[in-house]
Amino acid sequence: MGSVERIETRLFINGKFVDSSDGKTFPLRSPTTREVIAEVHEASEKDTDAAVAAAKAAFPAWSALSPDERGAYMKKLGALLHQSGKELSRLEAMSMGRPVSTYFDNHACAGAFEHYAEAGYEAQGVSSLNTPGFVNMTFKQPYGVVAAIIPWNLPLVFFGNKVAPAIAAGNTVVLKSSEKAPLSSAYVATLIEKAGFPPGVINVISGHGQTSGAILSSHMDVRALSFTGSCRTGRLIQAAAAKSNLKNVVLELGGKTPAVVFADCDLESAVADTQNSIQFNSGQVCMANSRIYVEESIAHKFVELFKAKFANISAGDPLDPTTNHGPQADSAQWDTVQKYLAAGKDSGELALGGTAEIGGLSGGASKGYFIEPTVFLQTPEDAAIMKEEIFGPVVNINTFKTEEEVIAKANDSEFGLYAAVYTKDISRAMRFAKVLEAGTVAVNCTSPTLAKDMPFGGFKSSGVGREGLGQSLNNFLETKTVLIKIS
Ligand code: NAD
Repeated sequence: MGSVERIETRLFINGKFVDSSDGKTFPLRSPTTREVIAEVHEASEKDTDAAVAAAKAAFPAWSALSPDERGAYMKKLGALLHQSGKELSRLEAMSMGRPVSTYFDNHACAGAFEHYAEAGYEAQGVSSLNTPGFVNMTFKQPYGVVAAIIPWNLPLVFFGNKVAPAIAAGNTVVLKSSEKAPLSSAYVATLIEKAGFPPGVINVISGHGQTSGAILSSHMDVRALSFTGSCRTGRLIQAAAAKSNLKNVVLELGGKTPAVVFADCDLESAVADTQNSIQFNSGQVCMANSRIYVEESIAHKFVELFKAKFANISAGDPLDPTTNHGPQADSAQWDTVQKYLAAGKDSGELALGGTAEIGGLSGGASKGYFIEPTVFLQTPEDAAIMKEEIFGPVVNINTFKTEEEVIAKANDSEFGLYAAVYTKDISRAMRFAKVLEAGTVAVNCTSPTLAKDMPFGGFKSSGVGREGLGQSLNNFLETKTVLIKIS
């Protein structure tokens, strides 16, 4: 497919593309033009049950394969993903406004399948002779059917991070894509078909939280569920799991990353990094540094440099390769950010931007859901825009005088996904690494910098559990103790 004239929007259940059983579809609008670009099949309760049943039926044969045999399918899928950047980047640009110039997700997804194609042999238990008269051991075994529920902001990154370790461990999967960005996942389903996976090993359904997401969360045959999305939905999923079969749940949730910038840092790179962090994907990133704390003595210079960089974006059609700043994903996201812009103007000092319009890109000739890169200064710590996730190109820059003061401010959040500190003082860097309440602390760098082989996840309400190479396989394995009495 050189272009995406024929967009796949059906459900992929038991190795076949099918319409929703009740014929229901939902319209998907381009956030750039507001035009309907596809009618997407909405999985009904019957479809969701059928996907789980297909996964259940596929499990015995799939789990009986060796890691090498499972890996062979995964490597084929990885290769197809690498080759599909053009199609996938176009689908993401069309559905949620991600500029094609910033697209790498197909390679990230491919990398996950390629890594886990080799990692299945790492599923190993331990043995113990420590109980006299016994040889004891543990087995690591797949759960059976697992579910993956993913968000819209970087869909294929999460597709790979969840589905690859799940199937490498011998599980079978039902993945539900986000209603805001279902097209790339449906396209990956066409690649799964091409790679020749046995039917039912990976099922891909589209739909809203109600119906299909909620059904997966409370399904008695789903034994583990990996979720990335908002704290609100994470809580609903955790509750549904508790009320049904206590399925094992991994939750990767929201964030409100603080970046602490000391006067002794490399100022230019601190500005460039923190600007990129809040601008990438139009600020729609869980770990975007939406709170920046700058030491008072350099605050003026920092703010001037930051504003100059943040204002200098290339906004426009995300399909245009010269664009690096697209619209917000949909009208709901756009409305939400606008509410925070209004609240921010009441609580803090507007230093840049502040409108839902970039050079005539919203409301005018192009009806895109654009938001101007926005900076607020000196916002009170208890203001809504300091406490809540905005998910837009909107940053608060506050100042501090002492370490104690900024530690208290940085940690005064229910979120704890990621935090950053910029300083050349190694002792101070290590003090901050220890004291900041976040699942990842970055020193002299900030999000989206990550390390593939380090655990990723949230402190406090930012999540439960960890993902990452070396972590995720275990999220999809049960541990069984085997006691053998010897004479
Ligand atoms: P969301 O919670 O609205 O939706 C995520 C997914 O959950 C979607 O597929 C949605 O259909 C589904 N869902 C909604 N209601 C459900 C229900 N009751 N039961 C089951 N599933 C349901 O989140 P979003 O708006 O798609 O994504 C943005 C959020 O994701 C932000 O809060 C962001 O911080 C977070 N996020 C976190 C990470 C991370 O790794 N921690 C990464 C990316 C995004």
